[in-house]
Amino acid sequence: MLPPFDYLLTSCVSADVAMASHAQAEALAGLRAQRLASLLDSAARGSALYRKVLAGRDPAQWCLADLPIARKTELMEQFDGWVTDPALRLDALRDFASDSSCIADAFYGRYVVWESSGSSGEPAVFAQDARALAVYDALEFWRGPARQRMADPWSVGERVAFVGATGGHFASWVSIERLRRLNPALAGSLHGVSFLQPTRELIAELNALAPTVIATYPSVAVLLAEERLAGRLEAVPHALWTGGEDLSATTRAHLQKALNCRVANSYGASEFLALASECRLGNLHLNSDWAILEAVDEHGREVPAGEAGATTLLTNLANHVQPLIRYDLGDRVTLHAAACACGSHHPVIDVLGRNDDSLQLGRPGDPMVRITPLAVSTVLEDDAGLFDFQLEQQGPCHLLLRTGLHGEAADASLRRARAVLSAFLVRQGADGVHIHCRSGETGQRGRSGKVQRVVSLLEAPAGVH
Ligand SMILES: [Zn+2]
Repeated sequence: MLPPFDYLLTSCVSADVAMASHAQAEALAGLRAQRLASLLDSAARGSALYRKVLAGRDPAQWCLADLPIARKTELMEQFDGWVTDPALRLDALRDFASDSSCIADAFYGRYVVWESSGSSGEPAVFAQDARALAVYDALEFWRGPARQRMADPWSVGERVAFVGATGGHFASWVSIERLRRLNPALAGSLHGVSFLQPTRELIAELNALAPTVIATYPSVAVLLAEERLAGRLEAVPHALWTGGEDLSATTRAHLQKALNCRVANSYGASEFLALASECRLGNLHLNSDWAILEAVDEHGREVPAGEAGATTLLTNLANHVQPLIRYDLGDRVTLHAAACACGSHHPVIDVLGRNDDSLQLGRPGDPMVRITPLAVSTVLEDDAGLFDFQLEQQGPCHLLLRTGLHGEAADASLRRARAVLSAFLVRQGADGVHIHCRSGETGQRGRSGKVQRVVSLLEAPAGVH
């Protein structure tokens, strides 16, 4: 069944987003207030959980900062009472998300479903209706990296290669599959290239595809840059679109130079696909007409503008089906008060997101094999079913796999994870790697405040931080 798409709604939302791209700060605040009231009203009426939270409050007096902070684990535990459509049941969604033959299919004829990945704990599941999707589409269209080719955005004139986790119900892959299925003309111009295959095969696929745009994670882009510098990557994209991880200024400059193309970064999450994108001056602007971010300290108190919080609370004004109100995203974000010279009144933000390390493996004398942290996480989560882990590289051929789990279940999980990871590393060309395992140990926190899931104690190569 085709993914949901409402042409009239999409046109209206698109016109609204186009206008709001140039709106003044006051007009944006007005849109936020109106949309927040509408979200809270839907939540109070449709969600058993929020009916309790919002009971006894005068709707006119609702102040976001007075509402409780929502956390993923708690929301997922009471999923059926959280959502505003009683037909949405977690067990049915989990079944759907475990079937790779129905990626981007319409769930119950009206929802697009994806799972979160790359963060701690079990994946959350998110259902988007036609309205939320229309908002994400419009934000991507008018403000995303493709807007700079307005004559032909997301278009048949480009060959876009998404290098990442393909084949699963992940937000980025589901979104690409959805576009391809809604518009057959795009099917020939949007391609998925799995980053789980050995680097040699990945590069051969990219060379055969000759994409004009590569969309991927910064850590994967670093691998591609190395392959270009070594003369193996022949594809010559004119643009590199990055997202999903930290992109430092140093790494950005390195990528730009090595790949000789424009780099456009954006920030999104499974909880809100198009949170922020870069302006022509290279600043990330929050899409503040549809998303509210609050940078807060470890006690949930707002931090002053210009300071990074311990975590960030998201209120998603587009999705009324699964209300995300002051939802703890786990990323550290700085919201700046000063206006950007580009003229946009959407606030500039800096994101200290996920910043795992790549692994560099190989016996002395052998060529080093680079493995990206997202590939390792995908293998451990999807193939081994291990979500609570930290993998630390301690030497060229030595890895330590930790889990916070205890007891026999932990030992069984670690055994399975070690076997799956070993087989994966051998397929990548990294032979003779010893993987030590420890249970009952939570890993170190990185500077993003999250437990770094893949950590290397080896020195990073020059130009990459
Ligand atoms: Zn700007």
